[in-house]
Amino acid sequence: MSDPVRSPGLRQCCSAAVGLIVGALRPRRVDERFIRSVVDAGLPTPGTTVTVTALPQVARSVPTAAIVEGTFSPRRIDNAMTSFVVTHPQASFIVDPALCVDVEDRAIAQLPAVLRVAVHPPADAIPTVTGLTQLALPPVDFALPTHAHWDHISGLLDFPGLPVHLHRIEREWVSSGPIAPVGGVRDSMRDRPLIDYELDGPPVSTFTRSRDLFGDNSVILVDLRGHTPGSIGVLAHTRRGWILIAGDAAWHELQVENVRQKSGYPGVLVDEDRDETFKTLQRLHLARHVVRVIPTHDHQAALRLASRPDTPDRAAP
Ligand SMILES: [Zn+2]
Repeated sequence: MSDPVRSPGLRQCCSAAVGLIVGALRPRRVDERFIRSVVDAGLPTPGTTVTVTALPQVARSVPTAAIVEGTFSPRRIDNAMTSFVVTHPQASFIVDPALCVDVEDRAIAQLPAVLRVAVHPPADAIPTVTGLTQLALPPVDFALPTHAHWDHISGLLDFPGLPVHLHRIEREWVSSGPIAPVGGVRDSMRDRPLIDYELDGPPVSTFTRSRDLFGDNSVILVDLRGHTPGSIGVLAHTRRGWILIAGDAAWHELQVENVRQKSGYPGVLVDEDRDETFKTLQRLHLARHVVRVIPTHDHQAALRLASRPDTPDRAAP
């Protein structure tokens, strides 16, 4: 059965439209007091290295101003619904299984109309299961979405029975009540093992809470709350240093570099808590010199995983 759809109210849509215009002219400014208050806990000594592979995906070119508030140069940027495979000696897993086959009917149809236009993937977008096959990667052991929005989880529909690790607060957020936030996610989680976890580990870098996934400091989940209540980032130690798959805490690295929040439309409709999202963005900004931040939808950032072919981290075009 499909999820009922929670339609954004008129007030929310108006506020998104107004936010788009106001933000374009006067983007939200860095909160200097908050920045000064952030403590850098440093990075742990990793016990091993892992491989991070971005699956092939087709990008769509979108106006920068529709993604990064108050930013008009370059005029357009590439946006994609990318999935990543992390390979650790003990297990391999897929981060953000983004798209299922027939995503239009199986997930997008459940979204509110006002969002459908903004989030449409290109017609030739590559389902996650197809991307995995194209790279001939071995089967993954589980999935780990950065958050439970349809474009980070609907690919699970093509992996029946694959276990999913989900931050407990995120699971409660999408599971409680008759209506899933935004819509299009509950079908993907049905009839499969769901493994709850908490971020009960110490602060890491500029992030306040963490979870050491394999107990060897090589893959650490960090708290990126705001976009959704339980958003996390996957901090992975690779041969080229630390990579942070940041989900939708930012949509593009320009946001991280220049501390610019998402544009009002559709940002207001998709960021559950705009203030908390902005705090998290500032934490990413402070961490960016020691960890390479890769927003899930930033196509060029994902492609740069392939910039040095002598290393195992790679992205296919
Ligand atoms: Zn997304």
